[in-house]
Amino acid sequence: MKLKIPFNKAFVTGRELEYISQAIENSHTSGNGEFSKKCQSLMQDAFSAHKILLTTSCTSALEMGVLLCDLAPGDEVILPSFTFASTANALVLRGITPRFVDIRPDTKNLDESLIEAAICERTKAIMPVHYAGVGCDMDTIMQLAGKYDLSVIEDAAQGVNAEFKNKFLGTIGTLGAYSFHETKNYSSGEGGALIINNEDMIERAEILREKGTNRTKFARGEVDKYTWVDIGSSYLPSDILAASLYAQLEALDDINEMRKSVFQMYSDRLQPLVAEGFIELPYLPEECRTNYHMFYLLASDLSVRTALSEHLREKGILAVFHYVPLHNSPMGKKLGCGVERLPITDQVSERLLRLPFYCDLTEAEVDTICDEIHAFYASH
Ligand SMILES: *Cc1c(COP(=O)(O)O)cnc(C)c1O
Repeated sequence: MKLKIPFNKAFVTGRELEYISQAIENSHTSGNGEFSKKCQSLMQDAFSAHKILLTTSCTSALEMGVLLCDLAPGDEVILPSFTFASTANALVLRGITPRFVDIRPDTKNLDESLIEAAICERTKAIMPVHYAGVGCDMDTIMQLAGKYDLSVIEDAAQGVNAEFKNKFLGTIGTLGAYSFHETKNYSSGEGGALIINNEDMIERAEILREKGTNRTKFARGEVDKYTWVDIGSSYLPSDILAASLYAQLEALDDINEMRKSVFQMYSDRLQPLVAEGFIELPYLPEECRTNYHMFYLLASDLSVRTALSEHLREKGILAVFHYVPLHNSPMGKKLGCGVERLPITDQVSERLLRLPFYCDLTEAEVDTICDEIHAFYASH
């Protein structure tokens, strides 16, 4: 069956190509060019962030975060198992042990009430993941970090332009990481950013991003030559990609409004199934302003979820699920993480189904999808 409704479609604002050709005409297509700087200052202003550096991905921003916090082999870091591989890879690449903690059944975010019991002598950091653009309880997390002297690296890949208690996600911890992957709210195909909330880390971040050299200082005229001064890698995106991203960031709030209206259409139409006890829908705590990164439902169990996603697929609608919890994944097992008992993580990963979600999704398409979900439950 040919797909009628895809799962995701990256939004195009219409100015991407114009800015990309400007970047090429500027003859500065490597990193740190005019558009990179424009993206960084636009976000710093919009999110009241101290310092933001564009990176090639959220994955590389997380890797930089781990280096900046001076985490070392043998250290432990607390994170959810219900996340993308990159959160844990940033640790495992450096010989650091991921310590998985269960999630809250409502937001699917790290359960802050379970963190303290997981802290031991080797614990050096917490990596909260703001699932679906809904903030973790950063008050409790920052309080624990203060009490035990831990760094906090926010995986805000899905949380760009969302807030917890009037603070933008990514700007609350020691460091934060954004993603501009094709599947995220604002995209340049591949891309990311590191948010640096600790003044003392800015200079080293610039060096790590430039292959361990002080080239950024050189570009500012602060040194007369640049050289190898630290470890590092190539974490700097081309200005061509930054140009494309700038077109998206200019539409920061317009994109948010479009996503909000899709989210609300889904909520309204599926509410009757919640009332009848068939499904659960996303929960938005009052202290959070979401960016409507995704819309999902929770079916009652794995077999119903499988049947529902097959029903939708037969009708040409692609609904997908994630994540295989990291502690149960082949790599997680190889690392010996499979012993943790994370009942909420296991349940959510079996019950969650993500519905098609993108700016251009029309009301008629949302109707079609929701009618099919209602039809499924009418016959089950
Ligand atoms: C998308 C995502 C990433 C990875 O982002 P990239 O920019 O593709 O590296 C990391 N963590 C989470 C939670 C994500 O959703």
